[in-house]
Amino acid sequence: MNAVPKTSNPDIVLAADKLTKHYSVKRTMFTQGTVKALNGVSFSLQRGRTLAVVGESGCGKSTLARQLTMIEAPTSGRLLIDGEDVAGADKAKVAKLRQRVQMVFQNPFASLNPRKTVEQTLGEPLAINTTLSARERGERIAHMMRTVGLRPEHVSRYPHMFSGGQRQRVAIARAMILDPQIVVADEPVSALDVSIQAQILNLFMDLQEQFGTSYVFISHNLSVVEHIADDVMVMYFGGVAELGDKKTIYAHPRHPYTRALMSATPALFEEDRTIKIKLQGEMPSPLNPPSGCTFHQRCPYAIDRCRQEEPQLRLVDGRHVACHRAEEVGDADA
Ligand code: SF4
Repeated sequence: MNAVPKTSNPDIVLAADKLTKHYSVKRTMFTQGTVKALNGVSFSLQRGRTLAVVGESGCGKSTLARQLTMIEAPTSGRLLIDGEDVAGADKAKVAKLRQRVQMVFQNPFASLNPRKTVEQTLGEPLAINTTLSARERGERIAHMMRTVGLRPEHVSRYPHMFSGGQRQRVAIARAMILDPQIVVADEPVSALDVSIQAQILNLFMDLQEQFGTSYVFISHNLSVVEHIADDVMVMYFGGVAELGDKKTIYAHPRHPYTRALMSATPALFEEDRTIKIKLQGEMPSPLNPPSGCTFHQRCPYAIDRCRQEEPQLRLVDGRHVACHRAEEVGDADA
């Protein structure tokens, strides 16, 4: 897993290079403030692999998803899809790039149009973006229904006529119908019953094997992404705390925030009783960011340097980590 995008590398399907998103907000009647939702996030996604983006609510995961799917433009930084710089692309090119990156949302009930049948929902992108005939579109839709585990004869149903898990299968079918290179899935199982979550995760993995799709899989829960992820990026306060391959990070997390998230997921670490960092307090206000390391008010390892100097992402023990004390973290828990 590389924190620095290699744009000329043909194995890399998506690269974010110091992606930043700031929003202007009204603080009082007369003053404006700036919310720094995303602060120079860099990573690259390899073809056919899954990058899990993990962190608490408010860490910047969903802002990142909106940048990657080109729903919003970044304030600064570059987004490259298959080596093409989105910022430098004209309207027609951006429309083409958008076909290559599809999104699956958390709540399929909200993301599917309740007035459209499944046939209409899946048929529309094909009618707009391909030259397929009506018969060919029907065949493609029936095939996609079977592929996601739904019965083709149910294409005339409306979203409310399906269960929650089936609705998410429809949403996944809609994302996959144009054969995208990348799917950004934002908490795609967190609105589902636990018993259904594993089925949907398995479906994602089957589709990846079949079509070679690359995923950015966003979740607040490390145990949800444990099976599906190849690489993991832990985000805190709009920045990257730790980034690397899943096995390296899960075996020995080097950022105190990663360790705190893992401590909150005991099922993951039954064998590792040494991880016991309890996450205390709330994330600071984005309107009033702390000096130095943004995690220092909640970090049991914090020292004076942490309050003054912002840690940069650097390679430690086979992964990238933004912590002044990464070499010591986990070797003797605080
Ligand atoms: Fe904690 Fe300091 Fe590391 Fe930040 S830099 S995570 S405050 S030890």
